[in-house]
Amino acid sequence: MIEDNYRHIQERIVSACKRSGRDPSDVRIIAVTKGVPAEQVREAIRLGIREVGENRTQEALMKHQCVEGAITWHMIGHLQTNKVLDAVTIFSLIHSVDSVRLAKNINQCADAVSKIQDVLIQVNISDESSKFGVRQDEIEDFIAQTSGFLNIRIAGLMGMARIAEDPEEVRPSFSRLRAVFDRVRTIGRKGVEMKHLSMGMSQDFEVAIEEGATMVRIGTALFKDQAPQRNA
Ligand SMILES: *Cc1c(COP(=O)(O)O)cnc(C)c1O
Repeated sequence: MIEDNYRHIQERIVSACKRSGRDPSDVRIIAVTKGVPAEQVREAIRLGIREVGENRTQEALMKHQCVEGAITWHMIGHLQTNKVLDAVTIFSLIHSVDSVRLAKNINQCADAVSKIQDVLIQVNISDESSKFGVRQDEIEDFIAQTSGFLNIRIAGLMGMARIAEDPEEVRPSFSRLRAVFDRVRTIGRKGVEMKHLSMGMSQDFEVAIEEGATMVRIGTALFKDQAPQRNA
């Protein structure tokens, strides 16, 4: 089941890359395993998945202990202050940094465990007043305030589009985030190395790839029970 889903996702990624003149090896699949039992996570890893995303530190800690292999763990959810130290010990990349306070907290915990923590700035790209994410016009200011933190490295941006029936509806959100990404790439500040653009989920990853995503976070499309619908 997961095998068919995974193959189908890979095919769709290749097609989206073809349509937009991109190299499929520039797009990384983050398998979102929140709520997915460890057994299925192991199955995904057996199939070649190497990057796993969780939105709760507690659940990630538990799986981290019972899932073996050279896996990269991604924190994609909102991070609570009292979980930052745990988060810093297991996650290679934290996608959800959206306040200077959180960045400072991560910096302190990373310092405590002698680590340089890679993070992405979560940007508010949804049209509604979403709870999370730095405003697009405040990114430069955010970077100015956080780039002095020596134990974090700002490695890119993350965005979450609103849920839309037709993924074309959220294309403008992705293209705006891509524009912000291109803009801040040129800043050239110490501790800032804009490499990753994390956008696109099961609903909209193809559109996100066409607009420049380098990481897509896919849960449902990979772990759903039903094999993907195909037109015979
Ligand atoms: C759950 C989640 C995803 C994956 O969503 P699917 O629609 O299941 O692919 C991606 N990103 C974040 C931040 C999530 O919380």
